[in-house]
Amino acid sequence: MFDLTQSLSNLKGIGPKRKTVLLEHGVSTYYDLLTYFPRRYLDRNFTKDIILKQGDIVTLFGNIVDSYIVHGKKSRLIVGFRTLNNERINLVFFRGVNFFHKLFAIDKKVVVSGKLEYFKGYQILHPEYEFLTDSDDPDDSIHAGRIIPLYPSTEALKEEGLDSKGLRKLIHQVLESGEITENLPSKFIKKRNLLGRNDAFSKIHFPDSMETVQIARKRFSYEELYYFQRLLLYKQRERQKVKRLLWPLPSSNSRINLEKNLPFELTEDQKTAVTTILSKTNTDSPSAFLLQGDVGSGKTITALLVGLHYIDNHIQVVFLAPTEILARQHYQTIYKFLGNMPFLGIELLLGGENKKSRAEKLSRIKTGESNIIIGTHSLLQDDVIFSDLGLVIIDEQHKFGVDQRETIRAKGKNPDLLAMTATPIPRTLCLTLYGDLNLVNIKTKPKGRKPIDTRWYKEDRRTGVYNSIRKYVSSGRQCYIVYPLVEESEKVDLESCTVAYETLRTNVFPDLKIGLLHGKMKSAEKDFVMEKFKSGEIQILVTTTVVEVGVDVPNATILVVEHAERFGISQLHQLRGRVGRSDIESFCILMTGDFISEEGRDRLEALVTSNDGYYLAEKDLAIRGPGELLGVKQSGLPEFKIADLVADRELLEEAKVDAASIPLGDPEEVSELRIRFSEGKFLFAN
Ligand code: ADP
Ligand code: MG
Repeated sequence: MFDLTQSLSNLKGIGPKRKTVLLEHGVSTYYDLLTYFPRRYLDRNFTKDIILKQGDIVTLFGNIVDSYIVHGKKSRLIVGFRTLNNERINLVFFRGVNFFHKLFAIDKKVVVSGKLEYFKGYQILHPEYEFLTDSDDPDDSIHAGRIIPLYPSTEALKEEGLDSKGLRKLIHQVLESGEITENLPSKFIKKRNLLGRNDAFSKIHFPDSMETVQIARKRFSYEELYYFQRLLLYKQRERQKVKRLLWPLPSSNSRINLEKNLPFELTEDQKTAVTTILSKTNTDSPSAFLLQGDVGSGKTITALLVGLHYIDNHIQVVFLAPTEILARQHYQTIYKFLGNMPFLGIELLLGGENKKSRAEKLSRIKTGESNIIIGTHSLLQDDVIFSDLGLVIIDEQHKFGVDQRETIRAKGKNPDLLAMTATPIPRTLCLTLYGDLNLVNIKTKPKGRKPIDTRWYKEDRRTGVYNSIRKYVSSGRQCYIVYPLVEESEKVDLESCTVAYETLRTNVFPDLKIGLLHGKMKSAEKDFVMEKFKSGEIQILVTTTVVEVGVDVPNATILVVEHAERFGISQLHQLRGRVGRSDIESFCILMTGDFISEEGRDRLEALVTSNDGYYLAEKDLAIRGPGELLGVKQSGLPEFKIADLVADRELLEEAKVDAASIPLGDPEEVSELRIRFSEGKFLFAN
């Protein structure tokens, strides 16, 4: 039995250099190293009777026969590789040309793996590789099995001799140094037919067949999911220890007043949502809700109605929005709704305001003169102090990180939480992620909403698209034209957006009123443009993804998305939600170039065929995985090393049932949770 948390320094062959580079890769203890799982396995059996087919992921054994560098705009290295069947394959390298040129010396034996492509002969771009020495090399015995695990490696690791082989030697040492203790209750191991922990570690690193690999993987997936479920239970218990300090009123006059004056009738789902959320406000501990509703389903008013129960008891409500445009819009909407109740102090707090006005607002917030405080990230700053904050509403919650949600909550007196999202998280995943959040859904949209007619067009239809825009705009409608803007290529993207704006303004629609809106503009400018668009003075708004979430201009009924292939499904669905916000027929036009990857085509077709956010989220989940869909960093979802929330759904259900069947409590388990879920970060989150 030995301590898995001990430092790697105790291993042979770990000097300061290796220690540093491993640390940079998140590996500092025995445990980290053991859970540095193989990314892939090379099964040497594979190589014999292979039928080569383009697009296949192949693993091949052979010799290096030649290698040369092709010079050009971008130099590349071509390494000639010959399989046992005498098939020639070019291994092509664009990066590290000189490094690989030296490494892939003629006559070396190597196993390569990657996607087979055809370009003047078979080729593999940047294959994974493993050089083999003669099997009688005694030092090589742990590498000579039929199945070779390949570890995620980097140039930095390789420089220190920590390629797959080097890592394997270290892992072997750890496994040799003692028996690893079981950490799962034995009854679950039996019930779910799992491999023991010690066995599983040696089998996953040194498998004798691919079946054993699967069995070992299953054990570790289960282990991760089980502890994740235990973590959620733990968090739930911690949360229940917190006591409620503020009590909203069961009946609110302001709400009655507002409902009387609403220009529309609430949907059944909206009413149910309000009742459900309020039903938990007379309990001993604060409540936490996730309000899910597709774009345009009317979440804002739902949250506001809930909030009034607090305000009527002099409890403050904060409304946090991810962008200035959205915060300002909420302010205006709420102001409009509550306009006949001047005694309610509504405050808008944004970044970049002048000192004096900010100071005044801060003082009103601190004294409790302000009741509803709407704002952006600027609300998270230290100088924002509330008198009696009892309800935190977070709009578009997936745009906020776990830490930010905690920061705002910590400013209140054990406040209730109402998080809202229009990116519906598929149910199974949701229960996993937010096991301690109550879910409320708004499924139906307000009456009279029509599905948005969505089309996917390529360049040859551009003139037609412009003609349609002209037609609808001339009849009084408004239009968005959205350009992608991603952080990595922000400058170029912004430029293409502004260039397009100039062309549209001067050449295409010189007779129409066009505006430009993007995130890099000054606040005041943004307001100015948004105001003009809202009032209808601007007919066509050329913009970036700043309008992605929440923006509500019901008269805008046409949305054109340029380079639509660069967006994910959920993002496109969110963007599309900018139109179809009234009973007028709306259009969404997805423009792309002529050549789209298969995956891109799947995404666009999904949008064209469906208007259902829940269906699309499932689709997105299947294509991109939960990490991408939710943004791993943002969601508070730990990065699983092996478990896959989509592929392992069944296992997840089993782990969940098991986890809930035994009581929490022993301190050893809590310390295990801490080791696993990076010290506190996930413990009190969500
Ligand atoms: P989201 O759920 O996407 O945040 P909003 O709250 O912005 O949607 O609401 C979208 C639009 O629908 C707003 O203009 C809002 O005033 C309007 N709305 C909300 N509820 C109803 C309803 N029950 N009937 C008609 N319109 C509604
Ligand atoms: Mg909204």
